[in-house]
Amino acid sequence: MHRIMLPLLSLVACLAAPPAHAQVPPWVITFLDVGQGDCSLLQLPDGKNVLIDAGDTKAGPAVVDGLRERGVKELDMVIMTHPHADHIGGLHRVFQEFKVRQALDAGMSSASRIYKTVFKDIEEQGIALKLGRPGLSKQYGPVSLDVIAPEEPLLKHTRSDVNNASIVTRWRYNNVSLLETGDIEQEGLNRLLKEHTVLAAKILKVPHHGSRYTSSKEFLAAVHPEVAVISCAAKNDYHHPHPQAVDRIKAAGAKLYVTSEVGSVTVSTDGQTYDVKTEK
Ligand SMILES: [Zn+2]
Ligand SMILES: [Zn+2]
Repeated sequence: MHRIMLPLLSLVACLAAPPAHAQVPPWVITFLDVGQGDCSLLQLPDGKNVLIDAGDTKAGPAVVDGLRERGVKELDMVIMTHPHADHIGGLHRVFQEFKVRQALDAGMSSASRIYKTVFKDIEEQGIALKLGRPGLSKQYGPVSLDVIAPEEPLLKHTRSDVNNASIVTRWRYNNVSLLETGDIEQEGLNRLLKEHTVLAAKILKVPHHGSRYTSSKEFLAAVHPEVAVISCAAKNDYHHPHPQAVDRIKAAGAKLYVTSEVGSVTVSTDGQTYDVKTEK
């Protein structure tokens, strides 16, 4: 009897195990090297793509190429963290080349020409425009998106009210979270810390290109990042990243990647472990 049952049981066990090819694709996060500016491409396990910022106007063609090289055909969402040119400038080209379903905006208007151009694109192409505020969340297969800032009323009389109104998003895939911070400065971060907003994230897009006005010890302790990415140009007028910010990030125990040194940074994760690759 045993001799017959054992092969039968192992056959059942074989059938019950999922075939390797049925695995969920990884979540791939690419911090594209756009020189002085920010641009993150999130390729989600459900096949959708989200772009957070697109560098400045002259980075537009490189962003379009970067997206095409990575197989992007359309974007489910574009998050414009705030209307500074080094974040929304490249979007004009992106909107010309890709179908975009929806856009999230920080709700800070600007008199700049690029702001007018980008919002004209959104209107002409019928892209659904939403205000990025806490409470807004979305599920992309196993990955969740939560907008955690800016809270109303927006901060006033800070070093930069526009930077402090940056849309901050926390993305989570089981054990691996990503915090995208735009150019939020310390006043905005202090508000999040005061409200005990959950900031914990293994992967951190460092706020404001690693400027000295952000990434306090308290903020880094709340995030506790393992991987920190600063997006900036090698020679920039703002002297980003600031040595004090770099020291604080390293002291917090994170491995730091600066796009001006390593080029684009790609993190792939299955929600349990992750793998970091750099262009250079
Ligand atoms: Zn910026
Ligand atoms: Zn800014």
